Amino acid sequence: MNLAELHPGAKAVIVKVKGHGSFRKRIMEMGFIKGQLVEVIKRTPFRGPSEYNVMGYHVSLRPNEAHLIEVITPEMAADLPEQQFEGIIDLDKLKTSVNQEGKNIQVAFVGNPNCGKTSLFNFVSGAREHVGNYSGVTVEAQYNTYDFNGYHFLLTDLPGTYSLTAYTPEELYVRKHIFHNNPDIVVNVIDASNLERNLYLTTQLIDMDIKVVIALNMYDDLKNSGAFLDIDKLSRLLGIPIIPTVATKGEGLNELFNKVIDVYENRDPNVRHVHINYGREVEQSIQAIRQTIKEDTLFPVSMSHRFLAIKLLEQDGHAIRFVTKHQVNKDILKTGYHEISRIEGILSESSEAIITDAKYGFISGALKETLKPGYSRRWFHTNAIDKILTHKFSGMPLFLFFMFLMFYATFQLGSYPMDWIDSGVGLLNEFLKQVLPAGMFNDLITDGIITGVGSVLVFLPNILILFLFISFMEDTGYMARAAFMMDKVMHKIGLHGRSFIPLIMGFGCNVPAIMATRTIRNRTDRLLTILITPFMSCSARLPVYILFVGAFFPNNPTSVLIGLYLTGILLAVVTAHLFNKTLFKSKEAPFVMELPPYRIPSFRSIVKHMWDKSEQYLKKVGGVILIAVVIIWVMGYFPREVEFSKDYHTEMALLKHQMNQTSDSIEMETCQRQLTTLHIQMESEHLSQSYLGKVGRLIEPVIAPLGFEWRMGIALLSGTAAKEVVVGTMGVLLQANEGAEPDEQTLMFRLRELKYEAGEKAGQPVFTPIIALAFLVFVLIYSPCIGVVSAIAKETGRWRWALFMVTYTTFLAWILAFAVKQIGTLFF
Ligand code: GDP
Ligand code: MG
Repeated sequence: MNLAELHPGAKAVIVKVKGHGSFRKRIMEMGFIKGQLVEVIKRTPFRGPSEYNVMGYHVSLRPNEAHLIEVITPEMAADLPEQQFEGIIDLDKLKTSVNQEGKNIQVAFVGNPNCGKTSLFNFVSGAREHVGNYSGVTVEAQYNTYDFNGYHFLLTDLPGTYSLTAYTPEELYVRKHIFHNNPDIVVNVIDASNLERNLYLTTQLIDMDIKVVIALNMYDDLKNSGAFLDIDKLSRLLGIPIIPTVATKGEGLNELFNKVIDVYENRDPNVRHVHINYGREVEQSIQAIRQTIKEDTLFPVSMSHRFLAIKLLEQDGHAIRFVTKHQVNKDILKTGYHEISRIEGILSESSEAIITDAKYGFISGALKETLKPGYSRRWFHTNAIDKILTHKFSGMPLFLFFMFLMFYATFQLGSYPMDWIDSGVGLLNEFLKQVLPAGMFNDLITDGIITGVGSVLVFLPNILILFLFISFMEDTGYMARAAFMMDKVMHKIGLHGRSFIPLIMGFGCNVPAIMATRTIRNRTDRLLTILITPFMSCSARLPVYILFVGAFFPNNPTSVLIGLYLTGILLAVVTAHLFNKTLFKSKEAPFVMELPPYRIPSFRSIVKHMWDKSEQYLKKVGGVILIAVVIIWVMGYFPREVEFSKDYHTEMALLKHQMNQTSDSIEMETCQRQLTTLHIQMESEHLSQSYLGKVGRLIEPVIAPLGFEWRMGIALLSGTAAKEVVVGTMGVLLQANEGAEPDEQTLMFRLRELKYEAGEKAGQPVFTPIIALAFLVFVLIYSPCIGVVSAIAKETGRWRWALFMVTYTTFLAWILAFAVKQIGTLFF
């Protein structure tokens, strides 16, 4: 709670005073210090200043100032668990709780992309946020807590930025976080192997005059390169404590957090506010602007005036808006503009460029005194590897080879554990069928839930292998190279390389991929990337492919699989082209594509990646898939009473009788086979008259031209919940696991054996390889699942785009499946 939230008459004790140096100093001089009792005397309406009593003085503060003073009330203290107050809380007790409250420290991690912020955040808090060796992995603030040395840390992991100007969404995001959430300490994470670029952000933090501790991360790299850095001296030059760390191994993190505590408690001797010297002219202008701010007595003091003055000279849009909103006499902005033209007149260069130059001058001066550069082995290796992997001629073929390897392993290696899980599920089903009392409950558990969920679960190994490859490419830094190589290709479709990583992530799951487009600066580029992401075949579609490819293309599975993925990519390209020509004309924005050095990923992080994905997959299996499967089963199970075309029960009874009579093993086997066939026929006849059958009939006319049977329609419909559900639904509909021979129990076998029951095609197989292919193409393209649809709506801010995508993709899917069927039947 803060002071601004208190009502007149309320009493509270101060827990901490936030805000920057000079404001903080002034406020503390007035008596607003930790442990002091403060009372609200009166409040002016319309967010005017309020009057407070502290140490017997009456002091008035504006709301945005009072906002920075954290307090605790007796009521809040009573809620704290350790306290057992009886009756009135006396001041001493309240002060004890203040000390407890004061031990909450808000820490924000700020730094360049790819410097190890998330690794640090994950290591201390045990969180599992995504880490990757390319920039733009973290797109939203992540929160977690950490208890250490009697203090409770509230940690925030922020997106990476090179600067705190307001150019990109990330920069704006981080800046807003620092201003609005006022973290007690900013931990500036720095990549030690790239000091010059990383310290640029630090100079901006210095201007902001906030409490900073530097985590000199990747210190292992610095040491390995043979470089020498005088950390103590650099720390004194910057006025900021510096702690070397290796985030991936957790080295230096205790020291880091001890230092954070020291700085928080104002115990560190190295902390001081350094003024970066911007040269005579700029400093004179800063002085002039500060003077006008000072004269505007009603102007808020919560932001460093020097920082604001510098930002005005940089013509920073955010600062200009802030001043416009808060200035009372119009002098501040006017002085700002006047000073800019004065500087530019004298130095004939933009004031912004002069300030940037001065910052780099400050950095290189500081480094000249403290750093003896080494010879970076990592970059040496990286350059050598890049000579081959991104070479003009060998780059692309190697990239395609890696892709081939990925899909080959996914399919081939994955098929072994898949068989084990498959037979495990089958055995469990048999067992439960025997032990549970026969009836509806038994049917629901075995034919409904186990069959449906089981048929999706068997694809877990494939998904794990796919993610193993993707994680490995991300963590080594190869993914960034792939984006680099694809830049030219992406330009051809009106996008650039930055769109490539979200698209590749789309192979995993479209939802995070769509979120990852936040790193794209240009709005239309971003929108376009979001709209083509659903064509990237996500891992949820993989089970469908594997099932049908295994059933109908057992001789060349990898090539069909790759063909499907390539079709998706091709459609994305065509769509991008089409939209670029019609919906929006995107302009190319220049941008830097970072190529981080190659790193050998830690075993820990790879395993964690895989586990994260499998956890998500299993959650889906236990959630949306389970529900969908039960709904499908219920709709297929009822109504129980239907009219059959023949008297199955009598025929089956006859066969059973015949089996009992004979002792000839061959005859017995034939009877058993006939019995199974009859049973399946009866089941499917019942199914076609169930509620599900009726829905199927309803949509059949729409999909009949594609050669799809009604059951396929049902599967597609349920697949809009999640694409894996297509498989689960097929499992329930075809009741795998109940054939005579083990081979015949599989869903693949059932699919091959599936026949039309009635109509002119009665007795013909439902699936030919052509129909199966058309079905696969349809599954690849048609409407994204609910999760993706809502992600599109959320990220574009418009439901219109989401609905547009559902229509567009479904329409396109229909056309292409139709084409596959027509062309296919023509040739085969
Ligand atoms: P972020 O973008 O700042 O959040 O950085 P990440 O935490 O995602 O890390 C980027 C890459 O650097 C990953 O590949 C990490 O494994 C690696 N990394 C992080 N910290 C260290 C470190 O201290 N030493 C080394 N050698 N690698 C690190
Ligand atoms: Mg990150």
